[in-house]
Amino acid sequence: MESEEFIAWAIDPGLRVAVLLMACLTGYVTLDMARRVPAACGWVGRWWLAGSALALGTGLWSIHFIGLAGDVLPFGIGYGGFVALAAWAVAVLACGLALRIGVVRAPSLARLGVAGSVLGAGVLATLAVCFVGMRISPALAWHPLWAAGVAGCAALGGMLALGLSLYLKTRFGRVARQLVAALLLGLALSASHVMSTLAARVPFDAVSLNHFSTASNGTLALLASVGTAALLLLLLLLSVIEARMNKALHRAIGRIDEAARTDTLTALPNRMSFDQQLEAAASQADRKGMPLALLFVALDGFKPINDSFGRRVGDLALQEIAQRLQGLARSGDLVARVGGDEFVLLMVRDAHKDGAAKMAQRVLVAMADPCELEGRQAVVSCSVGVVLYPQHGGHTTAMLHADAAARAVKRSGGATYAFFEQQMLTGVGEQLDLLRDLRMALAKQQLELYYQPKIHAPSGEITGAEALMRWHHPQRGMVSPAVFIPIAERYGLIAALGNWVIDEACRQARVWRDEGLRMRVAINLSVHQLRHPDLPERIADALARHQINPMLLTCEITESVAMEDPQATMKIFERLAAVGVHISIDDFGTGYSSLSYLRKLPAQELKIDRSFVLDLETSADARAVVDAVVKLAQALGLKVVAEGVETERQRDVLIQMGCDELQGFLFAKPMSARALLLWASDDREREVAFKPSLFGETRPVSDQELLAHRRAATSTVPQPPTPSKPDSAWSRLIGFADTLPSGSSKL
Ligand code: C2E
Ligand code: MG
Ligand code: MG
Repeated sequence: MESEEFIAWAIDPGLRVAVLLMACLTGYVTLDMARRVPAACGWVGRWWLAGSALALGTGLWSIHFIGLAGDVLPFGIGYGGFVALAAWAVAVLACGLALRIGVVRAPSLARLGVAGSVLGAGVLATLAVCFVGMRISPALAWHPLWAAGVAGCAALGGMLALGLSLYLKTRFGRVARQLVAALLLGLALSASHVMSTLAARVPFDAVSLNHFSTASNGTLALLASVGTAALLLLLLLLSVIEARMNKALHRAIGRIDEAARTDTLTALPNRMSFDQQLEAAASQADRKGMPLALLFVALDGFKPINDSFGRRVGDLALQEIAQRLQGLARSGDLVARVGGDEFVLLMVRDAHKDGAAKMAQRVLVAMADPCELEGRQAVVSCSVGVVLYPQHGGHTTAMLHADAAARAVKRSGGATYAFFEQQMLTGVGEQLDLLRDLRMALAKQQLELYYQPKIHAPSGEITGAEALMRWHHPQRGMVSPAVFIPIAERYGLIAALGNWVIDEACRQARVWRDEGLRMRVAINLSVHQLRHPDLPERIADALARHQINPMLLTCEITESVAMEDPQATMKIFERLAAVGVHISIDDFGTGYSSLSYLRKLPAQELKIDRSFVLDLETSADARAVVDAVVKLAQALGLKVVAEGVETERQRDVLIQMGCDELQGFLFAKPMSARALLLWASDDREREVAFKPSLFGETRPVSDQELLAHRRAATSTVPQPPTPSKPDSAWSRLIGFADTLPSGSSKL
């Protein structure tokens, strides 16, 4: 049929606007309810889905009646009530199905396409049923293209609106996206409605057989517009109220959660929160291949502050300390309070050994300032245990290890820091067993000093040996000093052990001397020995007893110990120097040296820590450190010794850099005194030879010289070493020349 054979629908422009408004409102309410479906679980989600289906279906159904209100055709229109209801049911069901398909947690484009198609079909079906409900006779002539347009337009609009409002991540806020999406859906639905009037063509001679029914188009339009608008507003209200309640609930949950993760006194994260953040930081560090450092800060003697000043003042002190620690943290670092008087600082930047040591030192300095507490001052020192991740183990053990390191520091007197070492974990029970056995070993002479040769770098000759303690445990076999010395330090046995070492090293030097081997012997001193005011006298006594020239004894003191209490160290160093012994700063590079202070120390030697030598071949950083240490030592007039040399390449690099002496497994492992003597007496060709001057003639020390050493030990003025005359059976025995190295003196 041609177009002149049909009556055009005369739709009032005002009604078109009303349709658009209703469609947009429908879109907004539908999307507002639909957005809650993916996040909700169980029946709540289904209720939201039903609500959005009700909104969309009813809105869609109503726009037909609103658009066709008034005199749109030359004859009156009426609807069959049952069919009008059926159209509503079709609309709600089709919209429900479309939303069920399209509104999921992670929809694909295809899924959105299917949802849009179902919606398009639903819109077409709803409008078609509405038209059918008019019972127009002769029947409407459907235009297939416009009918397809109705479905297509609704499908496209639905798809875009769902995609935009629910899934597209834009920089615009949710409400803005939802408004645009609602407008899109509104436009699509009203366009579908317009197209439906083009698709449903009314023959010229047609009438509506339902014209006289009670459901006239005017009545239904009124009902649809008022009823639907009321329903939509009600649903919107419901959605808004629910959103508000949800927000308030979330805020309350957030506050509870925050409180559960925060320490109320200091407002720092608590242990639980820290553990979680540590885990996250560790997995991020793994991904980026970056290290982490964990500093466990345990306050020393905090209880007396609480006891003497009261809890309130104690709390103020804790708050002050928390602030100081936070002041030290850099961006990305994390400070937390993990116990009554325990804090942790997680470093994410510069988290290598040096960086962590510097931070630990900064913590100690920050704590050193007295806390001003209501007009009173209190000094709170702390023990810091440092763990490097992943070097010292996984993140699950990091806290345990850092805690153990801090406890170890505390046991040895506190107010300093220490890196984690495996033996710090030794159980207390086992430690006490070892301590009992160690006491017995000392009494039963199960301890022995082993000697590791030190090599003159340019000539490759042996110049001396370092005495290293060995314990032959009857059941456990050889126990490492790295295990038993910390236990001896912890439980007060180190003084006895240290005294034994001093005496034994001097005795051995004497035995060698009597055999004609004149060696410089180095002993290691522990921090506890340094704190004993009678250490210099004790050393002077041992030297005198065994008639050893003090210049042939070197005392090795680790850098971290030397730098721990600079003033006290300076005093004891001066008294040791007055005795005439050499002083060596051991494990140099692991502590935190102040250059000005180092310059003033009366030391003669720096020993570069093994860890730098180990990395020499692979790490440019380690090479740079060693190079810098050599240059520093040279500038300060100190001899520089590298320990832990294991490969020829390391040896060559160290010689090239200008190291004076080398020590390590490449040349010799620590050996018994007897083995060293046999080695020296074996005159076979070998790569490492004893310096000929070591076999010089020796003579006993005179009574006057002994007296001079004793006096020196009690005064702080260094005494010049007394020259001695040669006298050796050993040199005659093995026939070495009696040439002395310049500056060295004989026994
Ligand atoms: P230290 O004074 O730095 O001694 C050097 C340590 O490095 C020794 O371990 C030695 O055996 C080891 N070493 C030497 N060359 C190499 C090498 O090429 N490769 C490797 N991997 N290791 C090498 P040791 O004997 O187990 O002693 C460990 C630490 O125990 C010593 O470190 C020292 O701090 C302490 N110590 C040992 N004896 C005594 C002592 O009589 N008194 C005190 N207070 N501490 C001692
Ligand atoms: Mg040493
Ligand atoms: Mg060392």
